[in-house]
Amino acid sequence: MHRILAILFLSCLLVSRSLFAQAADSDTIPHSAHLLSRYIRHASVTGNERMAGLFFSTVARQKGFHVEILTDEPDSFNFTASLYPLDSGKPNIVLLNHIDVVPAVSKEEFTYPPFAGVIADGKVWGRGAIDNKGMGVMQLLAMEDYLDLAKDSDLPFNVTMLSVSGEETGGEAGAKIIVTEFLDLLNPVVVYGEGGSGVPGVLVREPDRKLFGISVAFKRSLWIELKLSMTTIGHGSVPPVSYTVQDKVQALNRLVDRDRRITFSESTRNMFYELGRVEGGLRGFALRNLWLFRPFVIPAMKREEVIHALITNTITITAINTPEGPPNLIPQEITAVLDCRLLPETDTGEFLEELRRALGNEEVDIRVIKEGVHALPTQVDKFYDYMKEALKIVYPGSGVIPVLAPASNDNNYFRARGIPTYGMLPVFLPVYLIETIHNVDERLPIDALEKGLDVYRQLIAVLIESGYGRQVIQ
Ligand SMILES: [Zn+2]
Repeated sequence: MHRILAILFLSCLLVSRSLFAQAADSDTIPHSAHLLSRYIRHASVTGNERMAGLFFSTVARQKGFHVEILTDEPDSFNFTASLYPLDSGKPNIVLLNHIDVVPAVSKEEFTYPPFAGVIADGKVWGRGAIDNKGMGVMQLLAMEDYLDLAKDSDLPFNVTMLSVSGEETGGEAGAKIIVTEFLDLLNPVVVYGEGGSGVPGVLVREPDRKLFGISVAFKRSLWIELKLSMTTIGHGSVPPVSYTVQDKVQALNRLVDRDRRITFSESTRNMFYELGRVEGGLRGFALRNLWLFRPFVIPAMKREEVIHALITNTITITAINTPEGPPNLIPQEITAVLDCRLLPETDTGEFLEELRRALGNEEVDIRVIKEGVHALPTQVDKFYDYMKEALKIVYPGSGVIPVLAPASNDNNYFRARGIPTYGMLPVFLPVYLIETIHNVDERLPIDALEKGLDVYRQLIAVLIESGYGRQVIQ
């Protein structure tokens, strides 16, 4: 697996060198790159989206979209740009993106300032280039191509770009407001948001073949505090049989030593089945028939951290705290913080029960700090097929599979309301560029930006041509 990654890495370096030559000629820089560059320059770290939102919504209005500002607060700016007015009541194809970005720490390590939107080496550099302003630019410019058509004819559905705030901190200032206050106005029949993308280095038999994972489900976060309080003697010179730190360490030990129960939920089974179909050969056969190959496949899956996380509920200890004191003082209280990630089908109550049993100490107080939105996976439907078709038009010969993603995002707010929701950033990036997300030197190749734009363009074309488009007309 790692050698294949290395080969992919090298081939991608060669590609980026050819892009370098292209960028040397500024005439060849497309409008999409200039727009993304300007959008990045409106820094919009979560809680400060307003100026960037005003900029992007103004661009949309100038292009001729129907723009609605849904919320306009200093820390929450949410807007839509649509082919038809929202109050036309048409069923709506919603293209979701978020305005906010994560902060850029350690600025001195950046090749170019993170909020300068520099275009160099055939790439647009800066915070938000990939996550998620680039996607907003792709969606808006793809829709722009259909503005005239929408004016001249009465399409059976609307297409709306929805740009929201606060995604990076849980969606309370964005997606949550939309689903609680504006869902009727928005009238979505499907939401295409972020989440999946091209995934390099997965196919063993054909490592050069592109594979795209459209996310149909997310694991949800469950943050927990474990507190253990005890009154014991306070001096460390004579250790009591039982005291806070020792008992807590023992309980946490039992927790990390437990065997994580493997669960093949419907969404993971589907994912491996479809991967098996794309992969082919013996490996593909094994992936399609997991029940038959369980004894061989499961040990291999356990060795791959990401795969292991996709078939289990995970528990990560992220903090252990005691009140400050000198080294010889036995604290009377100790807390630990757990970042748990649950499979969509897992019941929170049952999970907490399991956790209690695993700790093996009735004295430990378990408190839920925060739970992510609980939503069941999207059942793959025609809207999945349309995205798949669009991807295959732009990336001929590529494989497309539905995936469960280990981390959560805004999509689950819509899923929880029963709206089919798919995650797809329609670009194929090498690992070293994927790793720049939330990191130093985030950057998106212009070529990838243009290809992603083309996927959305094709998606709308497919929707118009499809049975769905015609069916709604009748
Ligand atoms: Zn994002």
